Amino acid sequence: MLIYYTDHFVLPLPPGHRFPMRKYAALRERVAAVAGPLLREPPGATDDQLARAHDTAYITAVSSGTLDTCAQRRIGFPWSPAMVERSRRSAGATVAACRSALVHGCGINLGGGTHHAHRDFGEGFCVFNDAAVAARAMQSERRVERVLIVDLDVHQGDGTAAIFAGDSTTFTFSLHCRNNFPFRKCHSDLDVELDDGADDHAYLAALCNALPRAVERSRPQLAIYLAGADPFVDDRLGRLALTKAGLAARDRFVLDTLRDAGVPMAIAMAGGYADRIDDIVDIHFATVCCALERFRAMRKAVQTQAHRAA
Ligand SMILES: [Zn+2]
Repeated sequence: MLIYYTDHFVLPLPPGHRFPMRKYAALRERVAAVAGPLLREPPGATDDQLARAHDTAYITAVSSGTLDTCAQRRIGFPWSPAMVERSRRSAGATVAACRSALVHGCGINLGGGTHHAHRDFGEGFCVFNDAAVAARAMQSERRVERVLIVDLDVHQGDGTAAIFAGDSTTFTFSLHCRNNFPFRKCHSDLDVELDDGADDHAYLAALCNALPRAVERSRPQLAIYLAGADPFVDDRLGRLALTKAGLAARDRFVLDTLRDAGVPMAIAMAGGYADRIDDIVDIHFATVCCALERFRAMRKAVQTQAHRAA
């Protein structure tokens, strides 16, 4: 499996900006120490790839820096050519992670999960919707027909739900906090809402009930998993109360369920806003290690089988 990083495409932010941009480089460093040879720089998403999920006028306005002040403020990042490049690379990383998934069973984007980006506007630190761009890329290349999006960021995947509304080829599943951004939610194919303060037990019970239903209903040939770190108890924007152990159990359940159903998976990191950057990085790193363990174990089993057969 391959792991794509984009943290070296720096998105310049003014001092004091509340987005924890440092988490991406810190995560890549931790991953490099255990899986350095798997790391790759992704190509940026092309206009054609973006246009399968976004309005062309919006793509042009982002690319040329002609978004109006209101649209810019809604995204939450100041415009710069570097912001555009970073956003394209981030979407390209999920496209590349999907390609890796379809070859190796799994692929990872160490960023991405920008699920508040709608067809014709961006919001909440999301410019382009990487999961939507990647799902449509795999479908238009005829690599797969049916895609499942498993969105476990604590905020609802409203942009993804809106982009795929009425599209029966892509099933959107979002498990999120009810009383949290976005306050006007869009309908996913399956939405499960948790109340403020939901703990490991409540979260895992809801997930164990919902994910198998989502897999059964969608019969996916590819899944894109948004493994948000923001259901964590100390997250500033989360409102839930999961521990790191609970989040690791979540990842194991998702990866095992998809693997046992024979579904290749691309994983994107999505949100994480704990005050301690190390907490965010610990949670994302555990997700990456969970995938590495499973796919290394799988490769070993295949090699042992081949060895025995020989
Ligand atoms: Zn989030």
